[in-house]
Amino acid sequence: MQRRNTNQRMEVVQALEFLGHASTEELIEYLEENNAKVSLATIYRNLNTLEEDGKIRKVKLKDLDVYETIKKRHFHFVCNKCGKISDIDPKFISVDEQTFKQLDVSNVCDYDMVLYGICHDCGLEINKK
Ligand SMILES: [Zn+2]
Ligand SMILES: [Zn+2]
Repeated sequence: MQRRNTNQRMEVVQALEFLGHASTEELIEYLEENNAKVSLATIYRNLNTLEEDGKIRKVKLKDLDVYETIKKRHFHFVCNKCGKISDIDPKFISVDEQTFKQLDVSNVCDYDMVLYGICHDCGLEINKK
């Protein structure tokens, strides 16, 4: 039983590695397409356990929560048109001590950012018309 759970958790992590970012629904869809007899309850339990164990992380977006495997610190960009989620290198977003000073806040230990807009591909689509 223990072993089976471990395997199922591995499957979830592998699915996330493949998908990049996925909502619970997308994850279930993917796992079902790729074999599995996974119950909804099991997926939810596995996601919780994996998150608690620090193997995956939940990203809260405006309309939904997605999961991803633990990667180097990064922010996200969400396309308003196709819904694609991309990772953004934090070095392009400059928030520093000076910013915190101006905001009159201190001891900022973490922050997260989600940008919304139109992705490159959808931009090309729009320009074609
Ligand atoms: Zn797009
Ligand atoms: Zn990400």
